[in-house]
Amino acid sequence: MKFGGTSVGSVESILNVKKIVERQTEPVIVVVSALGGITDKLIKTSRMAVDGNQLYQESFEEIKARHNEMISAVIPAGEKRDKLLATVEELLEELRSIYQGVFLIRDLSPKTQAAIVSYGERISSQIMAALVDNAEWYDSREFIKTEHLPFNHLPFTIYKAGKNRLVRELTNKLVRETFAEIVNGQIVNCKLSNCKCYVVPGFISTDAESGEVTNLGRGGSDYTASIIAAALDASVLEIWTDVDGFMTADPKVISSAYVIPELSYIEAMELCNFGAKVIYPPTIYPVCIKHIPILIKNTFNPDAPGSIIKDEVEDDKRSIKGISSIKGTTLITVAGLSMVGVIGVNRRIFTCLADNGISVFMVSQASSENSTSIGVQDEDADEACRVLNEEFQKEIEDGSMFPMLAEKGLATVAIVGENMKHTPGIAGKLFGTLGRSGISVIACAQGASETNISFVINQNFLRKALNVIHDSFFLSEYQVLNLFICGVGTVGGSLLEQIHQQQEKLKRELRLKLNVVGIASGHNAMFTREGIALEGVKSEKLKVKNESNQSANETNSDSSLFTFHSSLKKMLAAAPKSDIKRLHDEVIGMNIFNSVFVDCTASPEVAGLYADFLEHNINVVAANKIAASSDYENYRHLKQTSQKRGVKFLFETNVGAGLPIIRTINDLCNSGDKILRIEAVLSGTLNFIFNTISKDVPFSETVRMAHEKGYSEPDPRIDLSGTDVIRKLVILAREAGYEISKEDVEAKLFIPQSFFEGTLEDFWKNLPSLDADFEARRQELEKQNKAWRFVAKMEVIDQSPLTIDHLATPEDAAAKNNGQSSMVNVQCSVSLREFDSNHSFYKLEGSNNIVMLTTERYREYPMLIQGYGAGASVTAAGVFADIMSLA
Ligand code: ADP
Ligand code: ASP
Ligand code: MG
Repeated sequence: MKFGGTSVGSVESILNVKKIVERQTEPVIVVVSALGGITDKLIKTSRMAVDGNQLYQESFEEIKARHNEMISAVIPAGEKRDKLLATVEELLEELRSIYQGVFLIRDLSPKTQAAIVSYGERISSQIMAALVDNAEWYDSREFIKTEHLPFNHLPFTIYKAGKNRLVRELTNKLVRETFAEIVNGQIVNCKLSNCKCYVVPGFISTDAESGEVTNLGRGGSDYTASIIAAALDASVLEIWTDVDGFMTADPKVISSAYVIPELSYIEAMELCNFGAKVIYPPTIYPVCIKHIPILIKNTFNPDAPGSIIKDEVEDDKRSIKGISSIKGTTLITVAGLSMVGVIGVNRRIFTCLADNGISVFMVSQASSENSTSIGVQDEDADEACRVLNEEFQKEIEDGSMFPMLAEKGLATVAIVGENMKHTPGIAGKLFGTLGRSGISVIACAQGASETNISFVINQNFLRKALNVIHDSFFLSEYQVLNLFICGVGTVGGSLLEQIHQQQEKLKRELRLKLNVVGIASGHNAMFTREGIALEGVKSEKLKVKNESNQSANETNSDSSLFTFHSSLKKMLAAAPKSDIKRLHDEVIGMNIFNSVFVDCTASPEVAGLYADFLEHNINVVAANKIAASSDYENYRHLKQTSQKRGVKFLFETNVGAGLPIIRTINDLCNSGDKILRIEAVLSGTLNFIFNTISKDVPFSETVRMAHEKGYSEPDPRIDLSGTDVIRKLVILAREAGYEISKEDVEAKLFIPQSFFEGTLEDFWKNLPSLDADFEARRQELEKQNKAWRFVAKMEVIDQSPLTIDHLATPEDAAAKNNGQSSMVNVQCSVSLREFDSNHSFYKLEGSNNIVMLTTERYREYPMLIQGYGAGASVTAAGVFADIMSLA
């Protein structure tokens, strides 16, 4: 059983270890790491000492105090504690002398460094031996033996664990002699008497020849345990750590990673070699060849089943088992025309690197043979380039090869799983997923064993890459959409409340997690990768509600919405200040996977950010109409960028709020239909006005009412002039595939132009002067049993008679839909029209909208879409639907 630094890092954890060990019924050897963080601290202190920094003494005192405090906390006062304190005191005094020597001589040889770090395990194991009942301490320096490897003989298959290599035969022999009874070369018994356990320091060893202290490399305690387990033919090697088992990815990076119940040795080896820190890579080999299973368990949750690594594992039908990664990768490219077809270039590359002790962990060569890319650690990069440039000096001089090209600051990711073998499509899925997220792959490699695909990317994209891959290969947990919500007015506020209400259900039923990672108003913004808890807004809401209950009676049914909004605003007001630049930089800088920018503002600056967001593979959902109705070039650019980047630019609520108008037009066009005419009542405000006007309520009064109820724009002339309807018509015409701009729409005004020219004040003052005329026209209309509707109309005018040839192909339709409009002549206008009671537009209640689509397929009986065309909650629901369509 090996207990890592985190398992012996705190009083609580070390007492857990005691319990776990003492309940064992079979003899056990316990290998312990240094107390969590101590190895780092020992190294740091030695650096201070060698740099002549007096503060090394303080740092040393902290190390001392940490151990003494631990002892006082876990070992009861008495003889045992005193004895332990004396032993530890002696060790610490030795350590103090070594530090002092380093400080005085200002020299820190590898030998001294190794001596210094050995104290971590030497002390922790003494504590553990005193803590566990019936335990005996054994010194691994007596039986774990290493040899020094001169660099130019270091085989690069060996993991870079310093310059020492295990002397396997000797170590096995010594381990057996120490712990087992051997008859005729066979282990017949473990020397351990009943329920006793041996405690052994991990990590440390001694040189087989000189006896000097060495170690097995950082994280090496796992290896110590594995070496002992293999030498003694143990029934199992247990690695106790701080996570529930071997997981699909590092849980510190991917919050949705989960435990893999079973892995094969090969899978575990592949994942560990590529950075799954949970096991030190050399650990697997010794037990693997002895077929000893490895069990990974959590000291903090001993009842969790953990993970088992063994020969034969049950097929869980998943295409991959896990993902791991290493940062600090440099890719060195050896390239040149003389390489093509020449035998021996690769031999020279690898021999030269091996002779200089440089480990290569990834190689990729194109079949054209004119370049080979080699992945090395950043620390080795300069040396690797130097030796390779030297090796190929002659070729570089005569121009047949280029000087080495090193690209630093990269990261390497590997996906691993034995099921990848003979399963087509894994690489396709992997690279497709990366591409859609805007992550470019710099190099990649897959061995013929097909258990690992490795690729190199820019380090800044690592977190995003791991998340999207995890998401796409381990979907059974849940899919995540990361949302940035901009604007917390009535629409943004309702949207957040709806998201909050649905979050649990979507997670449960659709396995979809809507994660709000940013909320911004005009002045403040908050961002967090983990997601903003909307629960927080809700509890804030209750607080606000209680406060208002005390001050006033609150009976309004809208009050809960109102309070959600006001608490949201309050929460946001306390968030850091923000402006358009910060919004831009944060959204792009977070570089988060599957992200959606949701614009619930009416701001032109915010609309101006879309192009950049799309360019960075961020989906855009806009309730804001400005971008879709802006100049045609901009609209086209946004559409094309989204297509190029494989993300969506959606704006269904730009026309008719939550009504499925744009989606329907898209569906018709994509299936090869052609929109010939659109007639629509798209202004809830104007519809309200013309439905309200009566004998008793004059025209000017209806405008005032619409304004007061918040139906109209703050300046109602925007509605009366048809400006808003024109914008909507432009959007519909464009989505139907026609190149239309606002200037192309003829606006037939129903009130004189002069009303639009003065100030708003003049407008309100003069408005009643129109009443008499309106009333006269209204009476006439009433007599004829007709109704006024403000109608937007688009019509294809040079449409030849319908023949089969005129049906657009689906490709044409799709192309149009992506902003490549056709040159068909269309006419667009907005005007006030009169409809008799037979017409579908006649009966249109309140502020409802209606759209009539005449298409090649719906020609005789056009398609009608009708319903609420305005209002915060239906608009928010429409935005929500756009978001859901991305999942
Ligand atoms: P110990 O101190 O017990 O040796 P380590 O810190 O060396 O512990 O290793 C455990 C850590 O490894 C976990 O806390 C986790 O963050 C990290 N880790 C990285 N990849 C994985 C993975 N695939 N599964 C589990 N843990 C992982
Ligand atoms: N204490 C050593 C380290 O931190 C060895 C180990 O914990 O496995 O690297
Ligand atoms: Mg470890």
